[in-house]
Amino acid sequence: MAGKFKYVIIGNGAAGINALESIRRVDKEPRAAIISCESELAFSRTLLPYFVEGKIDEEKVFIRDAEYYSRMNAEPVLGEVAGIDFKAKSVSLDGGNEIGYDKLLIATGAAPTLPPIKGLDREKVFTLWTLDDARNVISASKGIKEVVIIGAGLIGVQSSHALTGRDLRFTLIDVADHILPRILDPEGAAMVQGLVESDKVKIITGANITEIAKGKKGHTHSIKIKSKGSVNADLIIVGTGARPNVSFIEGNGIAADAGILVNEKMETSVPDVYAAGDAAQGQDALSGEQVVSGIWTTAVEQGSVAGYNMAGRPMNYEGSLSVNVVDLFGVTVASVGETGDGQGYDVETFTDSSGTTSRRVFVKDGVIKGAVFIGRYSDAGIIQWLVRMKADVGAWKGTLAGQPLNMGKVMLGIKEVELGPRWPLPDKQ
Ligand SMILES: Cc1cc2nc3c(=O)[nH]c(=O)nc-3n(C[C@H](O)[C@H](O)[C@H](O)COP(=O)(O)OP(=O)(O)OC[C@H]3O[C@@H](n4cnc5c(N)ncnc54)[C@H](O)[C@@H]3O)c2cc1C
Repeated sequence: MAGKFKYVIIGNGAAGINALESIRRVDKEPRAAIISCESELAFSRTLLPYFVEGKIDEEKVFIRDAEYYSRMNAEPVLGEVAGIDFKAKSVSLDGGNEIGYDKLLIATGAAPTLPPIKGLDREKVFTLWTLDDARNVISASKGIKEVVIIGAGLIGVQSSHALTGRDLRFTLIDVADHILPRILDPEGAAMVQGLVESDKVKIITGANITEIAKGKKGHTHSIKIKSKGSVNADLIIVGTGARPNVSFIEGNGIAADAGILVNEKMETSVPDVYAAGDAAQGQDALSGEQVVSGIWTTAVEQGSVAGYNMAGRPMNYEGSLSVNVVDLFGVTVASVGETGDGQGYDVETFTDSSGTTSRRVFVKDGVIKGAVFIGRYSDAGIIQWLVRMKADVGAWKGTLAGQPLNMGKVMLGIKEVELGPRWPLPDKQ
């Protein structure tokens, strides 16, 4: 396929389709192409664990139907982008086809990174990233007993969810000294670990895997861990991180760091070229630093903002906010904004008498910056709102974490927060 389109979007995921929809709210007619190297309708990676778990059917993973592209007046193009000629304004696909553009969005997401462990190429070792991965995990999980998840960060924990409903034994292994290190401090991690460990669930941290070898006594694998013995596995899911899919722009002059650098309009350093989602590195709402956010809501928001700007309706993105809710073997851990070990913050901590619910609220110079919830997270939405609004909660010092059901009172006491509409309210502009 070759041709020229006013709008070309590379990526049929959260960022890409939201960009297309924003474009169509402004500019209905001109031709658009949406390129993807996955031969599926647009789907949500966030739903893959639920599909594997059996909670939803495969069809529920798709977030747009087959008629969507004609309704959007967009040409779906199947192919892998191999390069972009920014001078000629042309995208080249691996089969040799060229697609010209007036405005281009790069929304190619990210891909899993694998640790350098011998034996990762053995059978029944998976990542959980694509629909094919999910299908493969489902068929490989029949008749097995032992599952190992390598990686206890966000991706590993999200992946662990996939098989937890089944009668299997699980081992979660991470090289870091505690689980969910980007969200939890060692104390919070120890609490979660204590709540989830059982005769069916084991967690090994500070674990340096040296090799995945052939298993014994009927097991598929034996995972060798330096100074910590070995663990049996019949199926392994690797969730150790992800990297933006941007290799095709390397060395061709566009400004990039971990991802493609964008400003508040999602513009890159190259005229008429935008980036959004996991492939982009944009401003963080709180720190102002350029970050690869790596979460669904950011991809949706950035894609939407990019689309409006591509179609000529100026819009600024106020920055991404880190929000995560994960379920680890039945224990919910949620975080919003800046969290971690608490260095440089006033941290309020509350743990209930049963030891099953805890929260930490992070405050700097009176302004609420973030919070972590273990167990109950009933008013996490309110705290997220306060963090997003950079609310001054100084007057509530000492009561924030300890009154988890009374955050409404805090809201009423916040006078500085502007209650006007915030982005995105595109149709009303
Ligand atoms: C198992 C799992 C669970 C997750 N759970 C959560 C969660 O609970 N909450 C949360 O906020 N986030 C979660 N995420 C992260 C979330 O899914 C991503 O942040 C989001 O999908 C990013 O959207 P995107 O549009 O940037 O990229 P994607 O949705 O990954 O879309 C990228 C698109 O680009 C295409 N593409 C890539 N390279 C090329 C190329 N060279 N040529 C052509 N096309 C290309 C792909 O085919 C795809 O269509 C999860 C991720 C995984 C894997």
